Amino acid sequence: MEQIINSFLEEVNSRNAHEPEFMQAVTEVAQTVLPYIVANDIYHGKNILMRMVEPERVVMFRVPWVDDSGEIQVNRGYRIEMNSAIGPYKGGLRFHESVNLSILKFLAFEQVFKNALTTLPMGGGKGGADFNPKGKSDAEVMRFCQSFMTELFRHIGPNRDIPAGDIGVGGREIGYMFGQYKRLKNEFTGVLTGKGISWGGSLIRPEATGYGAVYFAQNMLQTRAESFEGKKVVISGAGNVAQYAAEKAIQLGATVLTLSDSSGFIHDPEGLDDEKLAYVMTLKNVKRQRIHEYVKQYPKATFHKGEKPWSVPCDIAMPCATQNELDEKDAKTLVSNGCYCISEGANMPSTPKAISHLHANKVLYAPGKASNAGGVAVSGLEMAQNSLRYNWTRDEVDQRLQDIMKDIHKACVSYGAQDDGSINYEKGANIAGFVKVADAMLAQGVV
Ligand code: NDP
Repeated sequence: MEQIINSFLEEVNSRNAHEPEFMQAVTEVAQTVLPYIVANDIYHGKNILMRMVEPERVVMFRVPWVDDSGEIQVNRGYRIEMNSAIGPYKGGLRFHESVNLSILKFLAFEQVFKNALTTLPMGGGKGGADFNPKGKSDAEVMRFCQSFMTELFRHIGPNRDIPAGDIGVGGREIGYMFGQYKRLKNEFTGVLTGKGISWGGSLIRPEATGYGAVYFAQNMLQTRAESFEGKKVVISGAGNVAQYAAEKAIQLGATVLTLSDSSGFIHDPEGLDDEKLAYVMTLKNVKRQRIHEYVKQYPKATFHKGEKPWSVPCDIAMPCATQNELDEKDAKTLVSNGCYCISEGANMPSTPKAISHLHANKVLYAPGKASNAGGVAVSGLEMAQNSLRYNWTRDEVDQRLQDIMKDIHKACVSYGAQDDGSINYEKGANIAGFVKVADAMLAQGVV
């Protein structure tokens, strides 16, 4: 088996040698899916996984824009259209200075499996630009978004490719991009998700990824007759996903001890409450300031510059910032401090060695492609509401989100149950996602 996996990865690497994040994501999938392919002869002789690792289409483009001082700036824009076997391409846009082809291909590849798990008809894609919105004025962000959409609009559409938000792309950026798309096409369509509620958005979409990651953790905890009530929760990030993961965990009776951004983390030993979380939301979403401001407002909290929050003892950890933010050393620290449940809000936040350590210690570990699928699931519900020209209530959307997270958990269990009674959610998510996409690809022939 090892030889089959190695020769597959060597071939993929020969085409993608300079894309470490993409190779990391492919390696993780290949290690669990290739044994399944070998054991199931309907997939033999079809080169199916090799077809899945090759994007259907990659678009790269220049994004020129004028800053507030009149200087001309140039960024690089991307859209990876990875797989459309089960529906139109769907996946977020990331605006961050680190964005490159490797990062977007890893995200697009993960998205294919994630979208399949949601049970909704969505293919996988991802895009973005190496644009850093931090410190830019609203007018600069608007001009950038308009220039970005002036090229992207010809590649997307409500039945072709429907982008959404990701790091650096929230309601403000979606609004500017939607406005430019509408102007260029002279059409009001559901071409983006994460829209404002008065112009085609869905209730619960902003909350969906964070809430969904907590719902997934709830399902995992239930397998051990546990719940969030009274548990200590450590969360990284302070953006969209982290904020709503914290909100739901607090609602369920947990104590949320930390939040972070790229400057460091805050530790509030008394835990965040609704008022403190509202302060963080204004700080990050309106004032667009750094997380260390929190300790000025709440002096019992401490700020740990340049550090990650994984050294704070907890029962449940939720990495909600970015890829590879939780390494083997962090995993060892978490486990030795008693953490037994990790639900990833971010995409690929745990390194392969960290994941091995979590598995070896029977931690309830959910990979992002399962546990953070609530965001794209509610994006799918936003698309459905746009097509119906109708809005569901907050409770209706929240109930559908809870049902979808339960179904994803069930799919992971059915493919990831181990002989010793534990559940390998990583294996379960990879195989369940693979089966759905691969079967559709086989039915559609060599295209
Ligand atoms: P936001 O931009 O709203 O927030 C990102 C947060 O992560 C910020 O606090 C940011 O800090 C921190 N962060 C970003 N990059 C780094 C880094 N290199 N090191 C340390 N901290 C960092 O993004 P989201 O909350 O939307 O996304 C967070 C994660 O969740 C990403 O992995 C994304 O792919 C994933 N995700 C998001 C979904 C969504 O619906 N939004 C759906 C599914 C997954 P700072 O401000 O200092 O950069």
